[in-house]
Amino acid sequence: MSRDGEPDFDALLGPGGALSALGGFYEHRPGQVELARAIWRLFAEGGFLLAEAGTGTGKSLAYLLPALHSDRRVLVATGTKALQEQLSRKDVPLCARLLQREVKAVTVKGRANYLCLHYWERFKAEPLLRDRREARYLDRIGRWAQTTRTGDRADLEGVPEDLALWSDINARAERCLGTRCPVYRDCFVVKLKREAEAAELVVTNHHLLFADRMVKGRCGAGALPEYTHLVLDEAHDAEDAATSFFGTAASRRGLQEWLHDAGKAVPPDHPALGESLAGAVAAAQRYFAPWEQGGERRTVITAASAPPYERELRSRLEAGLDVAALELEAAEGTSEEALGLLERLESWREAFSFALDSVDDAYVRAVEVRGKNVVFTANPIEVAPILKERLWSSLKAAVLTSATLSAGGSFAFVRDRLGLDPETAREMALPSPFDYASQGLLYVPERFPDPSDPHFPEAAQEEVLRLVHASGGRAFVLCTSVKSMRALAEFLTAASPFPLLVQGDEPKGLLLERFRAAGNAVLVATASFWQGVDVQGEALSLVVLDKLPFASPGDPLTQARIERLKRTGRDPFSEYQLPCAAILLQQGAGRLIRSRQDRGVVACLDVRLRRRAYGKLLLRGLPPFATAGDFEAVRAFFS
Ligand code: SF4
Repeated sequence: MSRDGEPDFDALLGPGGALSALGGFYEHRPGQVELARAIWRLFAEGGFLLAEAGTGTGKSLAYLLPALHSDRRVLVATGTKALQEQLSRKDVPLCARLLQREVKAVTVKGRANYLCLHYWERFKAEPLLRDRREARYLDRIGRWAQTTRTGDRADLEGVPEDLALWSDINARAERCLGTRCPVYRDCFVVKLKREAEAAELVVTNHHLLFADRMVKGRCGAGALPEYTHLVLDEAHDAEDAATSFFGTAASRRGLQEWLHDAGKAVPPDHPALGESLAGAVAAAQRYFAPWEQGGERRTVITAASAPPYERELRSRLEAGLDVAALELEAAEGTSEEALGLLERLESWREAFSFALDSVDDAYVRAVEVRGKNVVFTANPIEVAPILKERLWSSLKAAVLTSATLSAGGSFAFVRDRLGLDPETAREMALPSPFDYASQGLLYVPERFPDPSDPHFPEAAQEEVLRLVHASGGRAFVLCTSVKSMRALAEFLTAASPFPLLVQGDEPKGLLLERFRAAGNAVLVATASFWQGVDVQGEALSLVVLDKLPFASPGDPLTQARIERLKRTGRDPFSEYQLPCAAILLQQGAGRLIRSRQDRGVVACLDVRLRRRAYGKLLLRGLPPFATAGDFEAVRAFFS
């Protein structure tokens, strides 16, 4: 440790240091020590730091070690569950070994990840199983519930992620009875909050970070303990999470769940409650059915986009819910459960009215129809002022980090979108230690139709087939729309000899497991696989990007942001659409090389990357791969 208290990060992370002495695989990462020092100084002096650390820099240890040396509680928020798990299960225990002391760290996830003891007891007493598959898992959950210390379902082995029964017994906030709960003292979520209050390090995710700020903004009490020092990892993704958590949403499914739960509370001596709920169910059915017409979509809510008789059907639904609430009060009086149900209904109705009627032009109101679900949302067009007021102003120090924070070599975009002060936010960019020029090839075909050409879809399918033959499968094909993903999947099912995996067919974790295990699979996916997915080794040797990932201008939020920039005389393409696409493109291409041993090809079939002036800016943000426009170079690379 130096005189000003700075830990000797070289002795911890450098060659011959504590990390290398632990044995196992050690790689010297020159940027890691530099980043650790910068973060330590920031935590000591206060302020904000935007730190772009290329893949392989080892940024987790570079922020965990200074955090654990800072003598303050530090909150680390990740964008993905995978990184949160990696920090809790691997990196934090590794820090404890390096520092040779116990580390008081707690991982806090969204409440739906934890078992609710109250609802579990009720469920056990009267299990309402949907099918035989659920019955098979009931015993296993029962045995686990008796022994688990955390109630975290990540520790519940052998039970599928998508088991519907979990939603009957999880601890999600909207139906929690709070201090009125009979098992409040034993509640896993309550115990976790207590542990977090005594912890030096709290590992959470963006969703919980912003949800906590939202709740604190309203009533002062959130799920997380107080903190003044924050690490926001995967910060390139923070705007999206903030947008959804500082907005509101009311869904048809949410109302159905409420009606279902309220139905279970009907006492035999109060049939009027049952009747009122049946009336509300029918009114909800009549209200939502016309919204469903016209198929899946996400559009702005306007007088023109609402279905005919919406007002009338809504008043009937409102009246039905009023009666159900009154009957519930009459039947159950002030029981904990009735109060909880009434609060839940109230917050659903608040969100419903805000999304449909708000005239606040800082929000964009939209309706999303997906299958049988209809969701009404109202999201802030700009989160920067909200983050300034609710998050940054309460902190002494914050590090925002990611492998991709800059666009076209500048941090201005992410800094503005997240509301950081350009005068005070420091910046640093650390290149990846990988040798991209020899490890990877960027292929953009020289002669290929433009994406706007009607022949593009067919040409793209044939090119993907050629590419996966050259790579022997082992490929991610990342599409920019669900429509092109489905068309490509259908084409490859018939034409490709390699095992085919398609996003949505199975949970993401399972698809990735199958992909790794197959060794020659082709995975066709869209948005959620462009980032946060890590497949090291030969199983992934080709990443195909069908088009440049420009956000659809038809998306209500994108539309509203574009309009807002236009109104203030700014250029939405260069100031918003292009930097968004640049960061997502870097993320997509970044799936390929995850270690110094990885080799492979990134193929972008969008020739605008080559032909348009902005293509140069996008190329500048990509890793410095060798480049090629001729397919023979791809063949040569793989042979
Ligand atoms: S306090 Fe809430 S989450 Fe905890 S056991 Fe009770 S109802 Fe469930």
